[in-house]
Amino acid sequence: MSSKTFKLAALAGDGIGPEVMREAIKVLRAVEKRFSLQFDITEAPVGWAGIDAAGKALPDTTLELCRKSDSILFGSVGLPDRDPTIPKEERPERAALLRLRKEFSLFANLRPVKLYKQLAHACPLSLERQGNGIDVLVVRELTGGMYFGQPKKTEQVSPGVMRAIDTMVYTTPEIERIAHVAFKAAQLRRKKVTSIDKANVLENGVLWRDVVTTVSKHYPDVALEHMFVDNGAMQLMLKPTQFDVMLCENMFGDILSDEAAALAGSLGMLPSASLGATNGNQTFGFYEPAGGTAPDIAGKNLANPIAQILSVALMLRYSFGLNDAANAIDDAVTKAIASGLRTGDIYSAADATAKKVGTREMGDAIAAGV
Ligand code: NAD
Repeated sequence: MSSKTFKLAALAGDGIGPEVMREAIKVLRAVEKRFSLQFDITEAPVGWAGIDAAGKALPDTTLELCRKSDSILFGSVGLPDRDPTIPKEERPERAALLRLRKEFSLFANLRPVKLYKQLAHACPLSLERQGNGIDVLVVRELTGGMYFGQPKKTEQVSPGVMRAIDTMVYTTPEIERIAHVAFKAAQLRRKKVTSIDKANVLENGVLWRDVVTTVSKHYPDVALEHMFVDNGAMQLMLKPTQFDVMLCENMFGDILSDEAAALAGSLGMLPSASLGATNGNQTFGFYEPAGGTAPDIAGKNLANPIAQILSVALMLRYSFGLNDAANAIDDAVTKAIASGLRTGDIYSAADATAKKVGTREMGDAIAAGV
C-alpha cells in the first residue's frame, strides 16, 4: 500500500495508439483499485493528434505536462500517408519521439521479449529450441556509442573518393550507469546478466568488459557472463532460453533487441521502457509498445493491446518499484492468453482452444484478471 499519488502523462498518439491506450488505462485503474494505489492520469495529444490540436507534433502544453509527471505512458506516433509536405524535422517521429527522448535524457532502453507457450506457433524457432519458454530482457544503452560519438562526418579524401567516419566512444560513468540498470533488473528476474561486447577487436569492448565486471561486484547474487556480439546474435537463434538479461551498448542493443523481438511472434506483444534519472526511489521513465501506429488496422478494434498493457507493468516495476502490482498485470496477461483469447495478430486457426477477440475484449479480460 502506498499513499503517494503517481502523476502520469498518457500520450496515446496516432493510429492504434488511442485504442490500445484506452485498454492500458483500464488495466491501470483495475490495479489502482486492487492495490489501493493512486494514479493521476492526464491525457494529452502528441503526433498528428498534436499537429491537429495545436499545430505541433509535441504541443507545448503536452511537453509541460510531461515535465510535471512522474512518468510518461506513450502510444505511438506517425501516419505515413499524412501530409508529405511537412518537413522531416516537424514530423511526429522526430519532433515528438526523439525530442521527448532527448528532453528526459533517457539513457536505458529495456525490451523484454517473452514467448508464451500457447503462442509457440508464432515463433520462427522450432519447439525444441523454444524449450520451456523464451524470456529475455535486452538492456540497451541509448545515448552513447557509435550513434552519437564525434567526429561523425563524410568527407572527400581525393577526387572521387569519399570517407565516412563514425566514432564509437564510451566513458566509464556511461557504462557504469547502464550496467547498474541491467544488474538491478536481473535481481527482479532470474539473476543472470550476459554482457555483450566485441572485446576481441574493439577498445570500447575492453573497457565495457572491465567496467561491467567491476560493477558486478555490487551484485553478488547475480551471475555475470561475457559474450562477443557475433556469438550473442547466433546464440539468440540457437538457444535463446540461456539468456535472462542481455546488456548491450547502443548499436549492438539496437540490432539484438530486434533480433530477439522476432522470437515473440508479434509486435503486439512487445512492451518497452526507456529510463532516465532516478530521484530517491523513483525513476523517470517513458513506456511504449515496440510497434508503431499500425495504420492498416487502426480504428477497427483489431489491435493487440498487450504491448501497451505490459508497458504499464514495466512502469510500475521500473519507475515506482511496485513489483506486486506489476506482477499482477503480467499474470493477468498470462491468464488471458492461457484462456485462449487472441487478437488477430496472435491467432492461429490450428489452435482449437483459441478464440479471436478484439482490442476491447482483450483489455476487459486482462483488467478483470488483475
Ligand atoms: P507498425 O509497427 O505500425 O506496423 C507493422 C505491422 O505490425 C503492421 O502489419 C501492423 O498491423 C502490425 N502491428 C503493429 N502493432 C500491432 C498491434 N499492437 N497489434 C496488432 N498488429 C500490430 O510499423 P509501420 O507500419 O512500419 O509504421 C507505421 C507508422 O508507425 C509509421 O509512421 C512509423 O513511423 C510509425 N512508428 C512509430 C513508432 C513509435 O511511435 N514508437 C514505432 C514504429 C513505427
